[in-house]
Order: sequence, then C-alpha cells, then structure tokens
Amino acid sequence: MATLDPRIKLDIRYATSDNFLSTPVYSSARAFLQRPAAEALLRAHRELMKQGYGLLIFDAYRPWYVTKVFWDATPPDKHEFVANPAEGSRHNRGCAVDLSLYDLKSGREVEMTGVYDEMSERSYPDYAGGTAEQRAHRKVLRHEMEKQGFTVYTTEWWHFDYKDWKQYAIQNVPFEKIGNR
Ligand SMILES: [Zn+2]
Repeated sequence: MATLDPRIKLDIRYATSDNFLSTPVYSSARAFLQRPAAEALLRAHRELMKQGYGLLIFDAYRPWYVTKVFWDATPPDKHEFVANPAEGSRHNRGCAVDLSLYDLKSGREVEMTGVYDEMSERSYPDYAGGTAEQRAHRKVLRHEMEKQGFTVYTTEWWHFDYKDWKQYAIQNVPFEKIGNR
C-alpha cells in the first residue's frame, strides 16, 4: 500500500513485538488491500493531506490463521474487540484497515481518545471522553474515510470496513506468498 503514495506511513505492529500478543505474527511489515479498497484509501489520504494530515496504517489484510491466533489469545470478556474465526474477519478479505492519522509537518502520530488495540471503552468511536482535540482528530479521520465508502467498526475508532467486503472471500494466504502472483 505504501507503493500507492510514499506519504502513507506504515506502523505494522503485528510485524513487531509491539502488539497485544507481545510477539510478531507477520513475517514482514507490509499492508495489503483489495485494489478498490486501496484506491479509496488513497483518495482519503489525499483529502487529509489538504488538511495537514497523512494516514498511518497499523494493519490491513490479515490471513485467517492470524485471526484464530488473536481469538485464542484474548480473554472471553474481551472478545468484542477481536473477530470470531468461525465467521472470519473483514481483514481476512482484504477489505478492512486499522489506521490513524499523523501530522504532516512533525511526522508524529496524532492523539486520539485511546490508543490502537486498547481493549477499553476509550476505543468506541462514540466514546465521549478524552480531550476536545482528540475527539476532533477522530472525527476528521472518520469523516474522510466515510466519504470514500468505509464504515467505522462499532467498538474500534481505528477499524474501517470497505463497503464491498462481501464480494471478497476469506483468505488464508501468508504475506510471503503475496506479490508473486
Ligand atoms: Zn481491525
């Protein structure tokens, strides 16, 4: 996806130990989306650049087996924050993206009402707490993503599904096998 525009930043936490599992689950720090979703994302990024922001991507396509790993590693009372592998995730279809904003001038991630992958009410997109500035950032991101056909997830301000996700199958192809086809 960085090939779309070098100013789309990647911070692929699942390729590092900086994630809720504290261990890498991806072999490389890359982000893949189905082409129409990627193109819609690029349009959102360009609109945001006019407002001084860039997109910061945490995760996109996720092979199905990784969804199973997440589910099994999450306590049942926190299961609202992870996809049930029995149904699969929209990430498995290459039609979901986890992302935030960074400030174009400083290069720094902007502050939101909570942090990525936080399993608390601060992750809800309608959480009323936090500062006015944090809520404003969240609103800017959501607004530009919705304009391009994405919908925010009910419990995660950073997760967006692309409108045509039903047209794409659940995939279990690992990152190493993508790009050679
Ligand atoms: Zn997500």
